[in-house]
Amino acid sequence: MINIPGVISQEKGLKSELLLVKGLTVDFETFDKKIEVLKDVSLKIERGEVVTIVGESGSGKSTLAQAIIGVLDTPPAFVKRGEIYFDGVRIFPTDGKRVKFRGTGINMVFQEPLVSLNPVYTIRKQLLEAAEIGGIPEKGGEREKVIKNTLTELMIRDVERVLNSYPHQLSGGMRQRAAIAMAVIQRPKLVILDEPTTGLDLIVQRKIMGLLLNLRREINTSLLIITHDLAVAANMADRIYVMYAGRIVESGTRGDIIKDPLHPYSLMLRDSVPTGYKESGPLKVTEGAPPDMSALPTGCPFHPRCPNVMDICRKNVPPLKNIGDVREVACWLYEK
Ligand code: SF4
Repeated sequence: MINIPGVISQEKGLKSELLLVKGLTVDFETFDKKIEVLKDVSLKIERGEVVTIVGESGSGKSTLAQAIIGVLDTPPAFVKRGEIYFDGVRIFPTDGKRVKFRGTGINMVFQEPLVSLNPVYTIRKQLLEAAEIGGIPEKGGEREKVIKNTLTELMIRDVERVLNSYPHQLSGGMRQRAAIAMAVIQRPKLVILDEPTTGLDLIVQRKIMGLLLNLRREINTSLLIITHDLAVAANMADRIYVMYAGRIVESGTRGDIIKDPLHPYSLMLRDSVPTGYKESGPLKVTEGAPPDMSALPTGCPFHPRCPNVMDICRKNVPPLKNIGDVREVACWLYEK
């Protein structure tokens, strides 16, 4: 888990959103070419809101999360353009003005939990430290109680064994739950979770989702959940962003995206998962594969897979347009 970012600039941003990303564009530079892996990505998260970013592997979701918390590997990744504001303060670019940013800002749970955990400390030591940062008093063994309760809520039965273990002594699923516990115990304003339920069985997934939603209810924590699984979004999100080939191609409320997706890619994702919203009939298989980001097709990057493709789609990239107050779509079908 990482607390963002140790340092931020003092410049004031917009007040209303907890997180605001504007026009973020990221390149991967190799020795012989530049690959644009994020293109003009803008999103916002209100206080206490649950937002999911949905898309297949390689769509740029994890890169976006890493850019937000400032842990992109540079090189090869370079942020070319864009601004990021958190809690009213611009955190990127920082213009060299740096101040210490303590404690309960943004925590991230990485897809690989070993990134979030320190290999040389036991889980107990790491969780107690997180509880201290979260302001839980030591008096009366309160921190020990809180960490045990949190692990129990995450359906860890053998709590003592897990607390006394080092990360490498735990299974992947246990490590994932320990990393989630560390993130939530600190009671941050925003938790970013990258594929938080991958590799966990359905019952544990449900329990973790419930714990995260409780956190939102109790202390108004916002959640940004990155997932390839639209079912996770259908169960948790207030709003959903759909990403394809490094771009946002649709955004809207959960009802918008799950019940009435506009973009053909959103429709393809929706119809391939058992959300309960699909009209009758068998689930569909997602046709084709995400594009090679170093050789994107001309025009709309989805056009080789799109059942509605038109001539214009092969030539021109559709802009992301507002359709109503909180809905956007990038597709020539809605241009008029
Ligand atoms: Fe399909 Fe064209 Fe819309 Fe792209 S712009 S999603 S190819 S209809």
